[in-house]
Amino acid sequence: MHWYEMKLGSRGQTHSGTSQVCRPERVADIAKYLEQVGKNGIVARGSASSYADQALNTDGAVMLSKRLDCIRSFNPETGELICEPGIMLKTITEVYAPQGFMLATATGSGQYTLGGAIAANIIGQNGHKRMSLAKSVNWIDVVLANGRTERASATENEALFKSVVGGQGLIGIISLISITLLKRPQEYVLVEKRRMANLDELMEALKSVRKTADFCSVWIDTSAKPGAVGRGVLKTASFTKDAAVPASPFTLPKIKLFLPYFALHIAAMPSVQNLRYRLTRAQKKKVESYERFLYSSDNIRVFSTKGVYQLQISFSEAEGPQAIRRILTELAQTRVTACRAELVLTKEDTLSYLGSAVRGYTLSLDFFRRKGLEDFLKHLIMVAGEHNGRVSLQDDALLEPRHLVMMYKHLEKFTKARNTFDPQKKFDSDFGRRLFSGEKKYEQ
Ligand SMILES: Cc1cc2nc3c(=O)[nH]c(=O)nc-3n(C[C@H](O)[C@H](O)[C@H](O)COP(=O)(O)OP(=O)(O)OC[C@H]3O[C@@H](n4cnc5c(N)ncnc54)[C@H](O)[C@@H]3O)c2cc1C
Repeated sequence: MHWYEMKLGSRGQTHSGTSQVCRPERVADIAKYLEQVGKNGIVARGSASSYADQALNTDGAVMLSKRLDCIRSFNPETGELICEPGIMLKTITEVYAPQGFMLATATGSGQYTLGGAIAANIIGQNGHKRMSLAKSVNWIDVVLANGRTERASATENEALFKSVVGGQGLIGIISLISITLLKRPQEYVLVEKRRMANLDELMEALKSVRKTADFCSVWIDTSAKPGAVGRGVLKTASFTKDAAVPASPFTLPKIKLFLPYFALHIAAMPSVQNLRYRLTRAQKKKVESYERFLYSSDNIRVFSTKGVYQLQISFSEAEGPQAIRRILTELAQTRVTACRAELVLTKEDTLSYLGSAVRGYTLSLDFFRRKGLEDFLKHLIMVAGEHNGRVSLQDDALLEPRHLVMMYKHLEKFTKARNTFDPQKKFDSDFGRRLFSGEKKYEQ
């Protein structure tokens, strides 16, 4: 068993910390490492794509899971894939897309681990059709604080399943996963982009999109004047067999752009957002392969030293339009523009205790760090709370315990499950201490 000291950071560059790190090579080693955990407990860390302190455990232990990435079996009849948690979503797509299979959730990036994606209960651009990734999980094996492995699913050992899914590593280590891959209906998708002049037009369009499109996401121009809030570009896609628009014979290769920090400043500039909106044709269609359409965020990587905050909030269908209008109006009035603003649709309430999605809308806003921003974002969190919105935990950096109490109706069930499966809080993290600080700490 080998441990070493390492300084770890986060994707948003807002948090970092030094920890004792281990990197098990085999699932059987997880329990052996857990026996050696000291003060401040341990947390799993996948590919560290979460923006803030979710996969950090300062002065404690961190278990890197990326080497636990074996595929154990695949059944082409049922689509059941059994694999270890460190496998990347991108790898699953690369291996099984040529055989006509796809993951149920179409996420913006494929650069994170399946274990991390389940622990964060991720949603994608098809959230209105398929909901979160966890919906396609048949069962998970979880190594608990006592070293024993328990199997859990939505119907068996339900409390364990619902607390580990979306539980940000605070209950145990996911060591094996059974997930169903879907048969991809077609090889190609017809992608349509439509300019939306304001929020009313957008909300009207989304009503039919919910029923018709397979995938949907909206880029929002957060620099729009108060009279035009919600203007942006609606992107939908649906699988297609005989597309009206033929796939272009001259498709450029996907280019990866590595941009410096000031690119975020440029992306957030009102004039640049305005230009992006105006340069998008009123309506545009193209056909592309599903693999090319997927993981669009992986084409751009911005290196930021100052940090980025992500605020992702889910609202119900009833409250969404009003709440989103209020938040976008606040941005317009205060002239705080987001460097990325995206809206996706969601189909139903999440199954996990700490999941944020409800049937409605999920608004995701990225801001580069600057003076006074944290107070403003905390104000937006309160605005979200007033509209019964839930700030997603997976990338949050600013929530406080009182916000959790206000937003998460199954919080007590999560706390009860944590007390049952890990009464001494062997699994802990900077995120855990920030939000569950009232609970008893692990002592060796
Ligand atoms: C470019 C980009 C695009 C994104 N797009 C989307 C999107 O479309 N939809 C969406 O919902 N999210 C999205 N995210 C957020 C991302 O999906 C989540 O942060 C995801 O959890 C990251 O997985 P990871 O492997 O990097 O996990 P990490 O960041 O390493 O860890 C995340 C959490 O999972 C826990 N964890 C990791 N492995 C295990 C394990 N084996 N057992 C138990 N707990 C574990 C960790 O303890 C931590 O709390 C995006 C992030 C980026 C950077």
